Formats: sequence, structure tokens, C-alpha cells
Amino acid sequence: MKRVGILTSGGDAPGMNAAIRAVTRTAIYNGMEVIGFRRGYEGLLEGDVIPLSVSSVGGIVHRGGTMLRTARCERFTKPEGVREGLQRLKEYDMDALVVIGGDGSFRGAYELHKLGFPVVGIPGTIDNDIAGTDCTIGFDTACNTALQCIEKLRDTASSHERLFLVEVMGRNAGFLALEAAVAAGAEFALVPEVPFDMDVLCKKLHYAKERGKSHSLIIVAEGVMQASELQALLKDTGGYDARITVLGHIQRGGSPSSFDAVLASRLGGGAIDALVRGEFGVMVGRINGEIVTNPIQISWEQKKSLDAGMMALVEILGI
Ligand code: ADP
Repeated sequence: MKRVGILTSGGDAPGMNAAIRAVTRTAIYNGMEVIGFRRGYEGLLEGDVIPLSVSSVGGIVHRGGTMLRTARCERFTKPEGVREGLQRLKEYDMDALVVIGGDGSFRGAYELHKLGFPVVGIPGTIDNDIAGTDCTIGFDTACNTALQCIEKLRDTASSHERLFLVEVMGRNAGFLALEAAVAAGAEFALVPEVPFDMDVLCKKLHYAKERGKSHSLIIVAEGVMQASELQALLKDTGGYDARITVLGHIQRGGSPSSFDAVLASRLGGGAIDALVRGEFGVMVGRINGEIVTNPIQISWEQKKSLDAGMMALVEILGI
């Protein structure tokens, strides 16, 4: 293992830079050279490369986004695109590729692995929807960002005695919504994993009002529906006049929390350790504090489930 490539792909997440730094410095520590491919698989196909050194990854550990930039690349989803990618990797004399991203990016890495090219995946997404790790890089920071925004909304919601709907990201998973709801003390969390019943929600809101509750916060995961749809449903079904806020891409930005910076550093180091051990076609993760590897397919073959206890907690605490 002499020359290692690295790229970030799909949605960006705070902590990706810390992972790039850790991969680069651990690889150099182990006597390897490191090349960054910019803009994910797009940059791989176009040969958009940048040599990475100990100093070129200096000062980025607490910077949000990704210094390698990221992209979605339609061409790479086709077999010809993957073969072209493999060709580029050979042209650049690469021995392995480290891919930082979500399960889509890991699928791309798996295609290279199937053609015999050594890959390792590092889970980076604010959605936390990847099995094989308790937390993905960026999730903790996104939860903290959502929490800060929701706290501000609660101030105005309580002053005006209003019902607020806050739409958070998470794609088809409710991890971010649930974590933010518990942390912010929201009354309700609507997540894709739990079937949603409008009548039950209206009854609960009615009950809360009867008890003299002046305001309520409902956190809705984007995978359930848009906040505007829920707003219309609440109006039609229960006559509720709710205000909506869509947190949007703000959740992806900002410096990583110390949790994410540490997680990213450990997973970055763990990815190179896996390559040194000769473990290919795997993703690194942290489970119960331990750095572990699993076949990269676990990220889409195994569904990571929401913590039922957390779901129950929103119900109990949000009365
Ligand atoms: P994420 O990695 O955050 O889940 P995407 O699902 O958008 O993001 O995937 C990022 C990129 O990974 C895609 O634009 C594409 O280039 C590549 N990719 C996704 N699925 C596949 C696939 N089945 N085969 C090859 N490449 C894929």
C-alpha cells in the first residue's frame, strides 16, 4: 500500500475535513502518499486531483464543509462510469481509495471493490442513517445546530402562544428529528419510521390546549412530509393555525462539534489502519466506543433502527 486516494461525495457534513486530515496524516505516518480527488466521483472521472501533505491538511480540523468539495455524479452510477473511474485510479497509480460519504457514495465504492480495487468507506452524513456505526460524522453537529434554532423558535412560540412546526433534514430517517425533539423538549416528533395518524395528533394537541398549554412545538422529519403539507392538514383537520420553519441546509453547515471532530479523526485513522491490515471493501464505524469495520454493503443492506426508548421519551416528556 503506497499511494492512497481520498474523496468526499454526496451531501457534505461537518467533520469531513477532520476526517480528510486524519486519513492524510495517518497514511503519511504509515509511509504512504495521499492524493485527493476533488468533487467526489466527478473529480475522479475528470482527473481533478490535488496532492495532500501534512501541511496542506493543516488548520482544517474545525472547518465545516469539505476542502475536497463534494458532488453527485450521475455518470458514476453506470458500469461504464465505474470502469472509467478504475482506469483513472490506475493512471494515477493508486493502490486504494478512501470514500467519505453516505450509503450512495458507499455503493459507488462497492462497485470499484467488485472490480478488485481496494476501498474503505468512512460514514459522513448528518442523517445518521448508516448501520455499522452508532453515529455518522456530522450528525452530532447537525443536532446541535437544530437545537439552537429550535430554542430560538420556542422563545417566540411561547411569547405569542403559537403552534410551531419545524421541518428538519434526515432524508428517509428520523434520527435528527428525534434527537432534536428530545434535546429541545419539543411536544411532538414526527418521524418516517413511525406511521403518522393525523387524528391522534389533533387529539393530543387538543388535550394539551385543554390543560392550559399555551404553545407547542412539532418537529417533523423531511421524510414524513413537508412542514407546509402538515400545516395545511392541521388547518383542515383540527382548525389549527400553525407557523412553519424549514431549517434546511443550515443544518449541514458550521464547525464540527468536538464529538464530530473526534469521531472523524478516529474514523479517518481507522480507515488507514484497515488498509494497513489488508481489510478492503469495508466501512469503518464506532460502536460502543470501539472502532470497528464491517462489509461496506451493511450501509444499505441493514436498516439502522430508531431507538424505541427515545421515541417513547418524546411522548412521555412532551405531555
Ligand atoms: P450519499 O453518499 O450522501 O448517500 P448520494 O446518494 O447522492 O449521496 O450518492 C453520491 C454519489 O455516489 C452519487 O452521485 C453517485 O456518483 C454515487 N453512487 C450512488 N449510488 C451509486 C451506485 N449504485 N453505483 C455507483 N455509484 C453510485
